[in-house]
Amino acid sequence: MQIIFHESFHDSSYAVDNAAAPGRLEGVMEALRGDGRFPVMEPSPATRTDLLRAHAEAHVASIERDPRLFTQASLSAGAAILASECAMKGEVAFACARPPGHHANRASCWGHCFFCNIAVALLKLRDEGHIQSAFVLDFDAHTGDGTLDVLRDWPEAHVFNPYAEEASEYLRAVETHLREMPPVDLIAVSAGFDTYIHDVGHKLSTHDFYALGRMLRQFGRRLGHQRRFAVLEGGYYIPDLGKNVLAFCRGFE
Ligand SMILES: [Zn+2]
Repeated sequence: MQIIFHESFHDSSYAVDNAAAPGRLEGVMEALRGDGRFPVMEPSPATRTDLLRAHAEAHVASIERDPRLFTQASLSAGAAILASECAMKGEVAFACARPPGHHANRASCWGHCFFCNIAVALLKLRDEGHIQSAFVLDFDAHTGDGTLDVLRDWPEAHVFNPYAEEASEYLRAVETHLREMPPVDLIAVSAGFDTYIHDVGHKLSTHDFYALGRMLRQFGRRLGHQRRFAVLEGGYYIPDLGKNVLAFCRGFE
């Protein structure tokens, strides 16, 4: 599995919020590198053309007024693009990037997000004629309203935000949904680890993240292709974020 990462994602000075917290990604990269099997690739920033497939001109311009934030947010969207391009070559990929993206709507944003990374990547592949359909599983504790908004005019983009009171019911909901999904050209994941038992979502264990990854791998097997990628969204319990990301990646690869 390919990891997409840039050293500047360690820089926490682009914003003051939980996603930009100092030290948040160090443990994640330590866990992923420590596994020893995952090569790391550096992304380039998304271009203006890439961003404008997902966002209104005025929204892109509003982020651009803060050059440091714009640089970091474009690079994060670029990480999602590179992960999706690896996936298209049949190489499963995980973008370890920030800021996250799933609360970035077409014309506005909130919740530590600025550009809708996953939608930027999917729309680029669609507009360049590489895919016609996609499935997005968003397992962040918060609904990915940005992804839903940006992809709303694309009926073949299926976005699923599971909801359940407790872990076993949550996993069953995902399993059932995947079983009933029609075939898609590409599987994308908004991987938010704030659903963790010690994070704001108070629900999933480390092993549950592995189980989610494995379900997606099995879904890919049923579709007969390896085209899948994930991008980091939330996840604020820093002490265990690394082991949770690693558990997901081991199931997903
Ligand atoms: Zn969240």
